[in-house]
Amino acid sequence: MLSTNENSKALEKDEKYIWHSMKPYNPDGTMVITKAKGSWVTDQDGNRFLDAMSGLWCVNVGYGRTELAEAAYEQLKELAYFPLTQSHLPAIKLGEKLNEWLGDEYVIFFSNSGSEANETAFKIARQYHQQKGDMSRYKFISRYRAYHGNSMGALAATGQAERKYKYEPLAPGFIHVPPPDLYRSNDAPDCPPEELEAVQAIDRTMTWELSETIAGVIMEPIITGGGVLVPPDGYMSAVKEVCEKHGALLIVDEVICGFGRTGEPFGYMNYGVKPDIITMAKGITSAYLPLSATAVKREIYEAFKGSDQYDYFRHVNTFGGSPAACALALKNLEIMEKENLFARSKQLGERLKNDLQNLLQNHPYVGDVRGKGLLIGIELVADKATKTPIDVSIVNKVIASCKQKGVIIGKNGATVAGYNNVLTIAPPLNTEEEDLAYLVQTLKEALNELR
Ligand code: PLP
Repeated sequence: MLSTNENSKALEKDEKYIWHSMKPYNPDGTMVITKAKGSWVTDQDGNRFLDAMSGLWCVNVGYGRTELAEAAYEQLKELAYFPLTQSHLPAIKLGEKLNEWLGDEYVIFFSNSGSEANETAFKIARQYHQQKGDMSRYKFISRYRAYHGNSMGALAATGQAERKYKYEPLAPGFIHVPPPDLYRSNDAPDCPPEELEAVQAIDRTMTWELSETIAGVIMEPIITGGGVLVPPDGYMSAVKEVCEKHGALLIVDEVICGFGRTGEPFGYMNYGVKPDIITMAKGITSAYLPLSATAVKREIYEAFKGSDQYDYFRHVNTFGGSPAACALALKNLEIMEKENLFARSKQLGERLKNDLQNLLQNHPYVGDVRGKGLLIGIELVADKATKTPIDVSIVNKVIASCKQKGVIIGKNGATVAGYNNVLTIAPPLNTEEEDLAYLVQTLKEALNELR
């Protein structure tokens, strides 16, 4: 623990030197976190917090896993770096392991962040069509409320106006359609998938935009950063059929949903589809080191093998797939398998959701509780009949109260531009059951303070 003097100096220097991202996410001051173990983080004053957001939905195997540090350390001693313009063993082994998890043949391009993984996917998709002689397909369809990253293409794919405001114009060619939203739209869970408004919107948009101009659709299996929108079961496979009808690729963003978060190795596996391209980051290393991946169906990769001088993928990433990050990722996947963390995420997530759903009947502001695995959203409304999103100041109150009681939860939503009225919960997949009980108790107390 730092001394009081060191503490105040740390915050003074923080204010002087560090530009924090997303200030509104931090309304009650900056925490300086000094150490962490399991699902608990400790700040500079020695206060402990249950991190029910796994950082930014990413520390899937929990903090303080020395075996991950050792895997990176051993690899750094053996081979610290070599670019993937050539190859090295940790990347090859990780590529093989990811294929085992994906259960199909995918070729992997490594980068460092989710945004880069998505940018890579967009470039591959555009070039793939051109490699096949289909020169006019450049547009991507994504959903309002989705978040796909901070770079100009990934942000263009993002469907949250407030994140883009003041940075536009972004990359051209991104078109948005309504997300599946069982709480707010007219779509019902038992509607035949092809009749869902959220599916028909994609079909119609492709027709209106001209199928021949559409390169692909990008979607998360469950929209996370736009308010944890769990789609009807048949939605994703119906979208895949629409993509096939129009000749577009389906790019699935598994940056948050992957690596056990929804109770399956990858989120799309809940919905029985085979994506053409899969992007992943965060949980791939449980965020111990930066790493991301764009997994591409082999037949797409094969299209880049022509003999023209521009027939290869001209995309270099200096740090992507660094040996230590790959070695660490392999160990991370091994931990998930050994500790059966998908099953745990599914089982504990279901229980957590049920416990929280009690609030639906009992609390005037809890409009909806939804999720899959250890990925849960609680939508707060000012009025259950009108579903008017609750003011963000009240959301902040709940978050501050939880924090005061030692629990970190998140918020997002983008229900209406600028409105973050969904509390988010995504704890490490190995969070102890008693800690989850503490989380439920704390949330209930914090919400009850609003009555
Ligand atoms: N895709 C999704 C679904 C995300 O939630 C994020 C980040 O939160 C990204 C992409 C971008 O990842 P990164 O922040 O690593 O660039």
